[in-house]
Amino acid sequence: MFLVRLIYASTSADFLNYSDYQKILAVSIKNNSASDITGMLCCDGRYFLQCLEGERQVVNRAYSRILNDPRHQDIMLLSYGEVSSRHFSEWSMGYVALSSSASAEMKPDVLLHLLGSPEDVDKPKPNAVSITITHAQFLKYSIKREFDPYLLSDAGSLALLEDLAKVFAG
Ligand code: FAD
Repeated sequence: MFLVRLIYASTSADFLNYSDYQKILAVSIKNNSASDITGMLCCDGRYFLQCLEGERQVVNRAYSRILNDPRHQDIMLLSYGEVSSRHFSEWSMGYVALSSSASAEMKPDVLLHLLGSPEDVDKPKPNAVSITITHAQFLKYSIKREFDPYLLSDAGSLALLEDLAKVFAG
C-alpha cells in the first residue's frame, strides 16, 4: 500500500456550464472522501489542473474514470510518483476557480456562478474558493504569463497548487 501523488492537465469541454462544474466537484468530494483521496482541482473556465493523492490503486482507479470523462479532453499526465506525505490532506478535493486577466478565453460567467451569487454569501461552500491570480504568480512557475497547465513541469505544477492551497488556509 503506497501513497502516490498524480497531477494532470486537461481542457474543459466546450459544453460545460455552471451545473456541470458543480456536479464534477460534488462527485469528486463524495468519491474521494469515501476512498481517502485528497487533492486540489483548479479551473479557469478553459483548463483544468488537478492533483490526486492517496493509495496507489485507488488513485489509479479514479484517474482511469477521469480519463474517460467526456467533460474534458487532451488529458496530459504531468506528474506521478510515490510520496512520503500528502500536501493537500485537508481537502477531499479543494476547488480553486481561477480568474486572471491573463486568461483571454476564460468564461467569466462560469467562474462567477460557480461559487454562487453574492446573495449566497451566507451559504459558503466548503472546499471551494474563487481567486484572481496575477501574471507574476503564473510566471513564477511557467514560461508564459497565461495560465496554461500544459506548460508546467512536474515540480512547477505542484508548487503552483501549493501556492493556491494557501488561500484555503487563509
Ligand atoms: P458515472 O457517474 O456512473 O458516469 C458514467 C460515465 O458518464 C462516466 O464516464 C462519466 O465520466 C460520465 N459522466 C458523468 N456525468 C456526466 C455528465 N454530466 N456529462 C457527461 N458525461 C458524464 N471523480 C472522482 O471520483 N474524483 C475526482 O477527483 C474527480 N475529478 C474530476 C475532475 C475533472 C476535471 C472531471 C471532468 C471529472 C472528475 N471526476 C472525478 C469525475 C469522474 O470523471 C467520474 O465522472 C466520477 O468519478 C464517477 O465515475 P463513474 O464511473 O461512477 O461514472
